Parts: sequence; structure tokens; C-alpha cells
Amino acid sequence: MHDVVIVGSGPGGLATALAVRDRAPGARIALIEAGHAHRRRPCPVDNGRTCKGCGGMCNVISGFGGCMHYGDGVKLSLYPSGRRLGELLGEDRAQALSERAFAALTDRLGDRPVLRGQEIPGRMEVSFGRRGMQIRPYPVATIGEGTLSSIIDDLYEDLAADVDVLVDHDVVEVTGTGTGWTVVVRDRRGRTTDLDAWSVVLATGRRGLTSTQDLMERNGVRMHEPAPSVGVRFEMRSSLLREVGLGHPDLKVSRTGDGRKTKSFCFCGGGNGGRIKYTNYQTAFGLPIITLDGHETLDRAPAADRELAGNFGLMCQLPPAGQARDSSFQEHLFAKYRQISDGHPVVETLRSFVARTPESRQWPELAAAIPFEPSVRDLRTGPVHELLTEEQHSAIVTGFRELMEPIMDVAGEEPDITRLLDEVLVLGLEVEFLWNRVELSEHAETNVRGLYVVGDAAGYAQGIIQAMMLGFAAGEHIAVDRVAAPAVALA
Ligand SMILES: Cc1cc2nc3c(=O)[nH]c(=O)nc-3n(C[C@H](O)[C@H](O)[C@H](O)COP(=O)(O)OP(=O)(O)OC[C@H]3O[C@@H](n4cnc5c(N)ncnc54)[C@H](O)[C@@H]3O)c2cc1C
Repeated sequence: MHDVVIVGSGPGGLATALAVRDRAPGARIALIEAGHAHRRRPCPVDNGRTCKGCGGMCNVISGFGGCMHYGDGVKLSLYPSGRRLGELLGEDRAQALSERAFAALTDRLGDRPVLRGQEIPGRMEVSFGRRGMQIRPYPVATIGEGTLSSIIDDLYEDLAADVDVLVDHDVVEVTGTGTGWTVVVRDRRGRTTDLDAWSVVLATGRRGLTSTQDLMERNGVRMHEPAPSVGVRFEMRSSLLREVGLGHPDLKVSRTGDGRKTKSFCFCGGGNGGRIKYTNYQTAFGLPIITLDGHETLDRAPAADRELAGNFGLMCQLPPAGQARDSSFQEHLFAKYRQISDGHPVVETLRSFVARTPESRQWPELAAAIPFEPSVRDLRTGPVHELLTEEQHSAIVTGFRELMEPIMDVAGEEPDITRLLDEVLVLGLEVEFLWNRVELSEHAETNVRGLYVVGDAAGYAQGIIQAMMLGFAAGEHIAVDRVAAPAVALA
């Protein structure tokens, strides 16, 4: 009998395991991960090759570390980033949990990383402010690729000493027994094993998006439909994004115009730019879909004759319209993407995107014509603009112009985006905020006692620190209330 089975070893699952282990030494904890061990997570796209799905397990979003992909860099954005968690956890507690999450990752390093973003450099504030844009200040640390790898190595060594860490094992069912839970785990060969536990924590993130919603529904968990966002990613010379990225590494600016809200998302600028990432949702939406993301880099070697690339996403918020597992929802979001490119990322120039005209060149020709080294090679040209409705497209074009003007100004360039029409790439499709919002207590427990949901899967906030905040909240509660007298607590 385990005290707790944690499903998923991303930041949310790792924080839960740390909290239970530290607060209740000797507790029996199982951490089950469908993906591979952290050192066995290469992404072909990162190495200039094609995404073929890695045998049904996307190494970017699955494996020990979850979406903290071994070999990538990350930004750690502290509370008040993820403000909705303050409403759930209380302001002071959210602040304390955010600091605890940051310490759990960075105390493993010799030196604490520098935090930026809580005070916006004057020139930046003026330039954005003059155009009516407020930058949300909060502390952000940028962790380079090598440093994140050493953190993940250390987390593994630390936890594996006290926790049953099982990689390459998929949790396929969780059933209540009245006083506890039975968790059915399937290995790579399809053999299943039952684990019994007093408590279960679902920390299944992206890979578990639709399967976890099904599982929660079967267990009577109360949840609400998401308000998803759809958008594109802009890739450009890293020098354009450098100053702003150093001023606020996780720049988030939103605007509401024409009744639509657009927001910048996952800014990858700074001294070394950033890389576009492919996240392969495999069969979570029926047929395979690859969506875009990004990560900031610190360690990339400069390209031989061109600048490195930087990127950011620009998203358009949609009204709630069902759940990610509903076929109508998937049709709404992905039908055009499937039609245009079979759910594979496509690219066009900013000029084609703005004018809504087809890009005439094939990708190798376009890739050779731009003034920076594109961060991915596995692309084809296509009508990215057609992935968006006319209203979404118009909101994103306006949002891009308004955001680029102060960015160019701060970079010391003439703030005129017509100069960028042939040198900025627009890539699609990016979708975010797809998780149902689960009704949770302040301990991340669902309405079904002993069943907790943390991290992205809870639907409150995306982000590494934010996933860990909920993980610590759940882990503390399990350690204090459930490990000592589990049957009494759950009866
Ligand atoms: C490319 C990329 C870059 C990002 N960069 C940043 C960044 O710089 N800063 C930031 O704050 N956020 C970033 N994010 C977002 C952030 O990584 C996530 O919000 C965070 O990792 C969520 O943590 P989680 O524990 O909820 O889930 P995840 O990190 O998604 O981990 C979930 C884990 O559960 C496993 N799993 C799922 N289902 C099962 C199952 N049935 N059985 C067993 N295991 C299962 C998965 O394989 C996975 O390993 C990025 C995301 C991506 C995709």
C-alpha cells in the first residue's frame, strides 16, 4: 500500500514528491512517468531533423522532468505570475509557495540565478507606456540549458533515494475503492500492474490533456470548460528582442481591441535568443497534432554567418466552447490545420501573413533568404494566416504591430514594422490554455477525497513555478493529513 501515487514527473509531480518525502520521511511514495528517463529524451527537431512522433512518446513533453526538457533552457517566473493561484491559495501562501518552488530548483546550484522583471528598465517602461501598454512586473530567472540539466540530474538522484520512481510506465486507470485508490499501470510491453494507494495526485500536464479529463470525469470530479487561446509564433533576428528580453525575460503584454483580447506569450529573447519547440500531442486529439512553443536559450553557439533567432507567441483568447476532449472542440481548433498541413507546423513571411496571400517560395529558399538562422528546419511553407479567422487574424496583426514598435524602439531601430515584412517568419499553430479548470480546495484536492490535481492539468495557470506551487500544496496536505492516519481521514 502506497501512501501516495503521483502520476507524472513534471514540475507538479516532482514538487508533490519532494513535499511528502520531506514532511513525512518514510512515507511510501510512487512517482509514475509514462515517458523516458531524463537523459533519454532527444528531440529530432532540435537536431535539425523531422518530427515523426518518437514512437508515440513526444520527448519534449514526456519523460522525467515533464515539460522541463533535459537539454533546454527555461524561465522561472515567480508569483504574481499565475495570479489565479492567489485566488485559490491566498495571497501570502501563494507568495510563499512560489518562493519555495524557486528554492527547490535553484538551491541545487552554487549561485542563485539573477532575478529580473520586477523593475522594468526606464527606457522600456516609457516606450511601452507611451503606446498605452503596461508591462506586468514580476521576478523571472533565466536558466540555461546546461544548468537545467544539472538541476534535473540532481532532482532525480535526490528523489530516487526515497521514492519509487518508475519511468516508461503509463497510468491507464485510477479507481476509488471506498477508502483508497487502485492505480492501473501499463509498461512498454503492455503488461499491467495494480498499485494501491491512500491518495492519488494527477500531474499529467500536456501529455495527459484529454486522457486525464476522461479519467476525472469517470471519477466524478467537478470541472469547468477552458477558455483556450489560439495563435502564431513570430521568429526574427535575436538582436531585435535582446534588450526587451533582458529587461523582462517573460514579457507579457495584452490588449483588447475589436472585442478580442490578444496577449504575448512565452517571450524568447535575451542575450542568446530562443528556439522554437514542437510539442507532439500524438493521439490526444484523435489524429496527430504538433503545436508550437518556445524556449529561451543561453548556451547556443552563434551561427557561422547569420544571427541567432529569437521568438515570441501572440495568442487570441477564445470564448469557452466545450472541452479539449470533445470532437466539436477539436474540429473548431484543428480542422483547418489538418487540412492545410496535416497538423504539422507551417511557415510564411510576415508579408504574406499580413496580406493574407500565399507564400510563393518553398521553405529551403525562404530559409536561405532571411537574415537569421532559423531555429527549426522541419517546416514547409503554407498559408499560416488561414489558420485564423479574419477577426483573429486582424487582432493578431494589430497586436504584433503595437508590440513590435516599442520593441524596435528599445532595440535602437526605427519602429516601423514594414521594414520587417520580408525578414520575420510567422509559424503556426500554437494553442494554449486547453485544460478544464478543476474545482480544487486550497490543498489542490478535488471534490473527490484523496484525489488531487496539480500543475497544468488543474487548469489555473501554466508554468513551472506555478505547477510546483500546487504540487507543494498537495504534498503538504497529504503528508500531514493523510500519511499519519489515512483510513480515518478518508473514511
Ligand atoms: C516547450 C515548452 C517550453 C516551456 N517553457 C517554459 C518556461 O520556460 N517557463 C515556464 O514557466 N513554463 C514553461 N513551459 C510550461 C511548463 O513547462 C508547464 O507549465 C509545466 O511543465 C507544467 O508542469 P506539470 O507538472 O503540470 O506537467 P508536465 O510538465 O507537462 O509533466 C507532465 C508529465 O506527466 C506525464 N504523464 C502524463 N500522463 C501520464 C500517465 N497517464 N501516466 C504517467 N505519466 C503521465 C507526462 O509524460 C509528463 O512527463 C513550457 C512548456 C513547453 C511545452
